[in-house]
Amino acid sequence: MTFYSLQNLSKSYQNKPALSQFSLELRQGEFISIVGESGSGKSTLLRIMAGLEVQDEGEVWLNGTQILNPKKKLVAGYDEIKLIHQDYHLYPNSTVEENIARPLLHYDKAYTKARVETLLKQFGLVDFRDRFPRQLSGGQQQKVAIATALVIEPEVLLLDEPFSSLDTIQKHQLISELGDLLQVIETTVVFVTHDLDDALRLTDQVLILQKGKVIQKGNSRELCESPKSRYVARLFSPINLIPDRMNSFLRPNDVRLRSKGGLLGHVVDSRYLVHYNSLRIKLKNGGEIWEVDDPSRKYQITDRVYLQWDEEKVMVLKS
Ligand code: ADP
Repeated sequence: MTFYSLQNLSKSYQNKPALSQFSLELRQGEFISIVGESGSGKSTLLRIMAGLEVQDEGEVWLNGTQILNPKKKLVAGYDEIKLIHQDYHLYPNSTVEENIARPLLHYDKAYTKARVETLLKQFGLVDFRDRFPRQLSGGQQQKVAIATALVIEPEVLLLDEPFSSLDTIQKHQLISELGDLLQVIETTVVFVTHDLDDALRLTDQVLILQKGKVIQKGNSRELCESPKSRYVARLFSPINLIPDRMNSFLRPNDVRLRSKGGLLGHVVDSRYLVHYNSLRIKLKNGGEIWEVDDPSRKYQITDRVYLQWDEEKVMVLKS
């Protein structure tokens, strides 16, 4: 049953559409990611979803109640819908425990204590309860920010690029912890990011946004194997255009490197990556540069190489 309903949301800034006819229905407790490049309308969408931005058209409903925008509501926003950004605002002179407890200032003391205790445990922050934000890593600070948002048990948590200011190690650790945690709590979660990889690590269902419009929705396998456009295909990896074949593309790991037979080129660059060397190969025919994975790490810059592939790996992408 629909719990959170976004109906035909549109928004333009100075006559330029930022969001067009966006619709989505979420069940209670559902967890979904929205992926799009910078400027595709993700933040605009989340602000409208939270009742913090005035949409030109469309409606937002949460559990049978219409979410009013700041034009229609005196105090903008709702306690039921919490929006978290990359720059979390923790109180620097309050401890972790005090930060998490702050939204419950006027609640019953015993309830506050029990609720904060639950969150400290759920977020693995028990040992850090007396620390100040400056004594925590970026990932830990972001966890405190999310725990603080959850302390009043909102119905919906909106995460707007929450990992952008974290380094890779912190980000991967936080993603794996959050993935487990957000599956068990009842909260409905919408996570937006420009990074498809982060989205696929966190959620099964991903919605792809381009220029304010939903262009595809699916799980990682559907999106990877059957992208509907070059934009979606490129979110996974670079794609190589096959010469003399209209709209036909191959991914770097779907190309085989051989010493004879196939499309001829020579290696112009080689990068050592964790599972393979990433080669840039200049094709003899047409001079296009292809990106190809070399798991054998056999080919060096200037080497001549022939490229082959299985026809079933060719993606035909018209736009
Ligand atoms: P994203 O979060 O995907 O980067 P945004 O929702 O921030 O995208 O922006 C979508 C588009 O709307 C962009 O072209 C952006 O420049 C424009 N935009 C966003 N906010 C404003 C604003 N307050 N005034 C004018 N243009 C805006």
